[in-house]
Amino acid sequence: MPQGAGQALLWGGQDFQHPAATHQILLQDGTRVAYKLERAARRSIGFQVSTQGLSIRAPRAVTLAQLEAAIHEKARWIAQKLQEQRERADQALEQRIAWENGAVLPFLGGELRLQLHPAAPRGGSLLAVGDGAWALHLPVAQGASAAQVRAAVAAWWLRHARNLFTERLRHYAPQLGVQWHSLRLSNARTRWGSAKSDGSIMLNWRLLHCRLPVLDYVVVHELSHLRVMDHSPRFWAVVAEASPDYAALRAELREHASPLWA
Ligand SMILES: [Zn+2]
Repeated sequence: MPQGAGQALLWGGQDFQHPAATHQILLQDGTRVAYKLERAARRSIGFQVSTQGLSIRAPRAVTLAQLEAAIHEKARWIAQKLQEQRERADQALEQRIAWENGAVLPFLGGELRLQLHPAAPRGGSLLAVGDGAWALHLPVAQGASAAQVRAAVAAWWLRHARNLFTERLRHYAPQLGVQWHSLRLSNARTRWGSAKSDGSIMLNWRLLHCRLPVLDYVVVHELSHLRVMDHSPRFWAVVAEASPDYAALRAELREHASPLWA
């Protein structure tokens, strides 16, 4: 029952629906949960609650009845995590950006304030104005529409993202002993990056909202895939070479909610 591809959150009423849900269950407290089930070569049942909803990885030998019993046993934890994700998503929805002079965007873990005036330098200028505080001066005419403001900010943002990501890739690639060849910016709602064995890297421009160490973790993660393609312990050992705190950074990224650019 996948619906609304690309949209992370689709639940309504009391129900929690994973966009790629394959199964549905009614918990004892009346919560209806549509979840994604994947069969895998593993020994135990793994539960994961993300912004998308509940996904479960189960050994092939586990029957559906056994699986449902395991879900009921974990029902409290599941319902609580789903509720937390929903609250976080609601907060993210509230963080709609007001596309006007003085608007504030989360930027590298701090705050960037838009300063729109026609005489600002072409291409914009970014100034640090305090600890984690930035001002972005953009040449936007008085009376510009929200769509025009957003377009001007987006153009600057993508350019800045590309420059910064390139610099971080150049910094970490020699440390990891890998070579990358191309960088593309992606726009996914929930995916932060990807890497192909031919050395092409994709990074999400929303990473520019995150603290630099978190952004760096994603850069290191993708570069590490040029040495190990899977997520085996060998892969995480490579990540740890350049990002020893990767576990905490990964957790922070999971908690991160980007604002809507609508
Ligand atoms: Zn990966």
